[in-house]
Amino acid sequence: MEHGEALNRGLCDRYLLGQLSEAEERDFERHYLRCPACVEGVRARAAFVAALRTALREPPRRRPWLGRLILWWWRLEDRWRGQR
Ligand SMILES: [Zn+2]
Repeated sequence: MEHGEALNRGLCDRYLLGQLSEAEERDFERHYLRCPACVEGVRARAAFVAALRTALREPPRRRPWLGRLILWWWRLEDRWRGQR
């Protein structure tokens, strides 16, 4: 599998969300082992999801940094998409 295909099919997201079929998961893991961009993509997404879960446990007025977190995510996402 090429990186572009993993990207187009949203495999990093779906992998983390447990939404891949067994065959897709096997194909993605095979690709992942030789793709630094996907390693980075999965790691960044896992960090984002963990940070978001922490943020959502706080009451809304204690989340001034949530916007910054989302901006950080967009920048990472852009960088990641640049690595085709
Ligand atoms: Zn990849």
